[in-house]
Amino acid sequence: MIHRKLIVGNWKMNMLAGDGLALARAVADGAGDGCDIGIAPPATLLREVAGVLAGGSVLLGGQDCHGEASGAHTGDISAAMLKDAGAGFVIVGHSERRQDHGEGDALVRAKALAAHGAGLTAIVCVGESGAERDAGDASRVIVGQLAGSLPEGMGDTVIAYEPIWAIGTGRTPSLEEITEVHGTIRAWLDENAGESGFRILYGGSVKPGNAREILALEDVGGALVGGASLKAEDFLAICAACG
Ligand code: PEP
Repeated sequence: MIHRKLIVGNWKMNMLAGDGLALARAVADGAGDGCDIGIAPPATLLREVAGVLAGGSVLLGGQDCHGEASGAHTGDISAAMLKDAGAGFVIVGHSERRQDHGEGDALVRAKALAAHGAGLTAIVCVGESGAERDAGDASRVIVGQLAGSLPEGMGDTVIAYEPIWAIGTGRTPSLEEITEVHGTIRAWLDENAGESGFRILYGGSVKPGNAREILALEDVGGALVGGASLKAEDFLAICAACG
């Protein structure tokens, strides 16, 4: 199955209503049809951003969800709540969640399952630290994360390869390194998920200046974009680099 490329903007803990709604409007107005585009604003803005995006092609997503469907989990947000607010996907297992909140593979898998249970696409993030790469351990770490984080049967899942050392640093792996890791992920999926059509996004310091060459790589199914998704002009330039 050949998919169009998918570009997802992860706003992280940025944007209040004024700037956030203006950004969502600018993305909605400027979105071309050369790729699929999604944005993941903070949860507080989801419902209002859903209103801005209504009737257009830009997808809306959450940045995280709880692993259970409901219950006594103060401060958490369920996948069904995201769906109810207008989301169609949710990012799970982002390295900032893994690091800041001690989230491990089993929890990430529970979150992906919860996402599927609510009818959301799960974007499951994996990626090695700089020390792991330097030690020649990147493939082993990533395969371990895939095996531990992906739900059996996969369901509606997108994988995002995000080397931790490339996130927000301005550093990116070489095109050969990206190709190698995406090939490793693809081979693992072929063997364990029985199907090769899953999209594998690259994330980590994707900018207008490097997007075209990264997105041209055969096994790169799109990009997960942090910092550059906060400026409509940059984000739309990355989207335009798909075509
Ligand atoms: C991210 O955090 O998902 C990310 C890719 O961030 P940045 O683009 O800023 O490196």
